[in-house]
Amino acid sequence: MTRPEMLNRLHSHQSEWDIIIVGGGATGVGVAIDAASRGYDTLLLEGSDFGKGTSSRSTKLVHGGVRYLEQGNISLVMEALKERGILRQNAPHIVSDLAFVVPNYDWWEAPFYGLGLKIYNILSGKYGFGPSKILSREETLERLPTLNPDGLRGGVIYYDGQFDDARLLINMVATAAEQGATLINYCRVTGLTKGGDGFVNGVTARDDESGAEFTATAKVVVNATGPFTDSLRRLADPSVKPMISPSQGIHLVFDRSFLPGDSAIMVPHTSDGRVMFAIPWHNHTLVGTTDTAIPEPTLDPSPLEEEIEFILTTAGQYLHKAPTRSDVLSVYTGIRPLFKAANSNNTAALSRDHTIHIDESGLLSIAGGKWTTYRNMAEDCVNHAAMLGKLPERECFTKRLNIHGFHPQAQKFGHLSFYGSDAPAIQALMREEPELAEPLTAALPYVGAEVIWAVRYEMARTVEDVLSRRTRSLFLNAKAAMEAAPKVAALMARELQYDSDWESKQIQAFQRIAMHFTLERELVGSSKA
Ligand SMILES: Cc1cc2nc3c(=O)[nH]c(=O)nc-3n(C[C@H](O)[C@H](O)[C@H](O)COP(=O)(O)OP(=O)(O)OC[C@H]3O[C@@H](n4cnc5c(N)ncnc54)[C@H](O)[C@@H]3O)c2cc1C
Repeated sequence: MTRPEMLNRLHSHQSEWDIIIVGGGATGVGVAIDAASRGYDTLLLEGSDFGKGTSSRSTKLVHGGVRYLEQGNISLVMEALKERGILRQNAPHIVSDLAFVVPNYDWWEAPFYGLGLKIYNILSGKYGFGPSKILSREETLERLPTLNPDGLRGGVIYYDGQFDDARLLINMVATAAEQGATLINYCRVTGLTKGGDGFVNGVTARDDESGAEFTATAKVVVNATGPFTDSLRRLADPSVKPMISPSQGIHLVFDRSFLPGDSAIMVPHTSDGRVMFAIPWHNHTLVGTTDTAIPEPTLDPSPLEEEIEFILTTAGQYLHKAPTRSDVLSVYTGIRPLFKAANSNNTAALSRDHTIHIDESGLLSIAGGKWTTYRNMAEDCVNHAAMLGKLPERECFTKRLNIHGFHPQAQKFGHLSFYGSDAPAIQALMREEPELAEPLTAALPYVGAEVIWAVRYEMARTVEDVLSRRTRSLFLNAKAAMEAAPKVAALMARELQYDSDWESKQIQAFQRIAMHFTLERELVGSSKA
């Protein structure tokens, strides 16, 4: 899977594609896997890097969504719980079980959450991850030694899934390519072409690396641009009514000492009625999230000052040692592509179901939903796309399709476990050239061989691709990632045969992006959308 090979596939493709997908996040790449595995001729164009948008910025949960159960959205919870089970079965190297404890400080919480989480487990049916249980105060503190013990009565434990979002996405891109799809990053769609009947029949796009413009035609064009759905729709018809209400959520990342055990904390009701998680992830502690309406989506969003304060304050109420700003190793911001409700300003209340919408221009847009449900969303989308594009009817079989890297015992590869069946090849690179076995920075486990691997086989084109989404350095520790940038640039330049000018431009570009992940900068002041 290399970018030149993908460009070659694109340029040697003379005929019309069956499906062109715009957007290389979880939704678009999921659609590409589904379409290609049904045998449809599939092209996916991503304007930046795969996963640059929301899909690398989630809470990293493969879950049914306990909150949606509280809202009474049983069908969404059941669908997500089923997809959670399918995803763990098809990508066990990236999806694992995680114990969550709901700490109880009031007398009514144990029976209330105990019953709710029992129902949650029952709804998962044969896809269950383990029964929930009420814990004593001692058992709760044993699992969560850093929990605030003042007034603690006990807890309720339940099980959900956890994953590495960007790593799963990169493996999904490989899966789609193996099924015959052509997927290209850094190719922005700049226009939509129309046939004599006035319907969208293709795209114009720009290869950001060469600057070359090209057109490609298709029987159906799928808009999977997440928060940017309305911008693409406007390329076909500037008068369309917006359908997305963008809402951002942030996470703060701390070191492991804030949550040293193997269990996560789930707070079902924060002071403003939201859900908050503290989760062990890649040997760090991840705390989030928020839900703040924003006027316009951007590719490099920044946290708002009040979001940071809210998370620090809430974490401080539940953790024995309250984290402070100076403990924050990284902060990241993601934008939810939520569907607009006619009369609601409260984005937390907006639907998390996915929606498929076909404009009068014939452009099919799919947005909303969750990472967890990407497979089901893709199945639904391709069914609609096949009808719209009059493609031959073909059955979907992604329920039983392993994701690239599938390995049932990947834990034995240590920090390389997330590569699954690719891990031995990375280990071989480390043996061949022992310098590549050295960490890129002392604070994180990532090594030089992962940079080489990312460039050779995972279409990494920039220092940011490597430090943000092939490894998760920037998400775990922004300062350490900035320190690693020169080494990564040098390794990439060697592999791609670029000069020192490229290296220094890459380092500067990365530092600019990394500023969105630290608190040491001017913060945007207000959330008033
Ligand atoms: C804070 C937060 C936490 C979340 N946590 C979870 C969780 O724990 N579990 C879960 O299941 N779900 C979670 N979600 C939801 C999940 O992350 C999203 O539903 C999902 O990632 C959306 O993916 P997407 O592909 O639709 O959008 P995106 O990932 O944003 O992808 C859209 C892509 O389109 C590209 N694009 C835009 N315009 C163009 C163009 N003109 N040409 C080419 N490409 C273009 C962008 O570059 C981008 O890469 C969370 C969401 C947020 C915001």
